[in-house]
Amino acid sequence: MIATEPKASIKGGEFLIKETEASQVFIPEEFTEEQQMIAATCREFLEREIWPRLNEIDNAKSPELISSLMDKAGELGLLGTSVPEQYGGFGTNFNTSMLVAETTGAGHSFSVALSAHTGIGTLPIVYYGNEDQKANYLPRLASGEWKAAYCLTEPDSGSDANSGKTKAILTEDGKHYVLNGQKMWITNGGFADLYIVFAKIEENGQTDKNLSAFIVERTYEGITMNEPEHKMGIKGSDTRQIFFNDVKVPVENLLSERGNGFKIAVNILNIGRIKLGIAAVGGSKEVINNAIRYANERKQFKTAIANFGAIKHKLAEMAIKVYVSETASYRAGQNIDDLIEDLKANGMEDGPAKLKALEQFAIECAIMKVHGSETLDYVVDEGVQVYGGMGYSADAPMDRAYRDARINRIFEGTNEINRMLIVDMLLKRAMKGELDLMTPAMAVAKEIMSIPDFSSEEEEGVFVAEKKVLKNLKKAALMVAGAAVQKFMMTLSDEQEILMNVADMAIEIYAAESVLLRVEKLISTKGEEAVAFQKQIALVYLHEAVEKVASAGRAAVTSFAEGDELRGMLMGLKRFTKIDPMNLKDARRQIADAMIAENKYIF
Ligand SMILES: Cc1cc2nc3c(=O)[nH]c(=O)nc-3n(C[C@H](O)[C@H](O)[C@H](O)COP(=O)(O)OP(=O)(O)OC[C@H]3O[C@@H](n4cnc5c(N)ncnc54)[C@H](O)[C@@H]3O)c2cc1C
Repeated sequence: MIATEPKASIKGGEFLIKETEASQVFIPEEFTEEQQMIAATCREFLEREIWPRLNEIDNAKSPELISSLMDKAGELGLLGTSVPEQYGGFGTNFNTSMLVAETTGAGHSFSVALSAHTGIGTLPIVYYGNEDQKANYLPRLASGEWKAAYCLTEPDSGSDANSGKTKAILTEDGKHYVLNGQKMWITNGGFADLYIVFAKIEENGQTDKNLSAFIVERTYEGITMNEPEHKMGIKGSDTRQIFFNDVKVPVENLLSERGNGFKIAVNILNIGRIKLGIAAVGGSKEVINNAIRYANERKQFKTAIANFGAIKHKLAEMAIKVYVSETASYRAGQNIDDLIEDLKANGMEDGPAKLKALEQFAIECAIMKVHGSETLDYVVDEGVQVYGGMGYSADAPMDRAYRDARINRIFEGTNEINRMLIVDMLLKRAMKGELDLMTPAMAVAKEIMSIPDFSSEEEEGVFVAEKKVLKNLKKAALMVAGAAVQKFMMTLSDEQEILMNVADMAIEIYAAESVLLRVEKLISTKGEEAVAFQKQIALVYLHEAVEKVASAGRAAVTSFAEGDELRGMLMGLKRFTKIDPMNLKDARRQIADAMIAENKYIF
């Protein structure tokens, strides 16, 4: 049995070059009773207040309904999980707030309103507010008396967030900043009482290079807004353009320091990203539940469609991706919690410790945003397909799920931006000497010139062969990334297609490793038989990851190498993406059959 050992310190991005022991990872089965009770409260809230009103929420002509539902969530304490206790919240640890995000993630438009309020709306004050700002605003935000929105995006400034044109000019008496500008796509815009507004300070006709952040109360004069946007999905989420016309903001409401706004925006989005990933897992599980129920009920050719192999394949694939996304998200969440505790034990204050830990695992946050949102999109797409024509009916649940899912690949940094960030952050850390990618990359380059080692030592343990496969996948990623860096040096950032390929390799490696570690830990505590299906999930996912790593690697190297160099790298890729074949069809059938028998997602 693997005991829970003291955590070895691990750095963000290190998964690419280091092996992790199963005993070092957190798995969702380890949530305490108290944490499970919090999740149960969230679920009951969705069942009682949200799910019966999904149509009403989406068709509402004004934001009053969604705002009143937020009030109810506030009464239950659901808005204060990340707010410290001294300001009226619960100050839960990071993984508990992830669990809340997962559970409430199945709430469609309501989830978006809730996460905008509790995340990007409230957290800038939690992490960057001074004592007065925290004491003044956090109790009201934690209780839901006030709702919050986050105003970063502008018509001409989306992904390039630091290019916003909204201006802030200090008044002559030095008491106020006067804000002028237009913000776009602001979630909760229509009913928020408080806006976190990003603007550039202008002084003597000179505009700052970087944004600053301001706490703006709705009652300040000069705030106007358009009608809610007509959107493809999350129709009940109130999204507005907001105009700031000579809005006087007291100087005390500058958040953090002048010019620190972009950093705030980035760090807050970081948290939003991993939470979006886990919320997508929550949404996905509900879609799978519906798909399984429908597949069991719907009969064609005199049998339930759940009996067809093509449908079983879909149900299994949906479950596999979701299980893996869940696993990797909580693994990263716990790494964040552990580092927060370490930093605090070394004397750092709570807020700075949290920020530092989140920054350290920013690569994993970006990975989970991409993995979670793309898993959800896969799941809703196949969900529609399982429902057939009824999948296309606006009276059946897949229609809303399909439309609502799509936004997740766009906000909190588009998935393209997040993919580029993954590679950018890895390389920057390598250049700063924080992450030694060079030594293993050079070792791999040497290894591909040598004769492969066919000797097979008999090792004992769980997933011995699979861990070798994983080690090789890491070599494949290092080989491709190393060669690309050497080839392009400073112009690599112009080769976005290659960056996407490398990001895909990193994402798959993190995901596959996480699921192997979870199942290894489960086997050690429950025995192999008890988690036979989970084992199949891990094995199938590893096979899929191998295919994806091989294909992304090939796409990359064929785009920049030729002749002997290309041949050498293709051979290297072949060597590093070898895996013994298994009967994937049977494994998927077993996974699907287990869920079909229980009529729900069971992992
Ligand atoms: C429903 C909804 C709610 C939102 N809520 C909020 C909110 O509460 N607060 C807020 O501030 N914002 C919010 N947003 C804005 C959201 O964060 C932005 O839409 C998002 O960041 C993308 O910016 P954009 O729409 O300007 O797209 P663009 O930046 O114009 O991107 C268009 C396309 O180009 C790609 N692209 C852009 N730059 C690059 C690059 N350098 N390299 C490669 N590809 C690139 C993108 O990936 C994308 O595919 C919301 C948006 C929506 C739709």
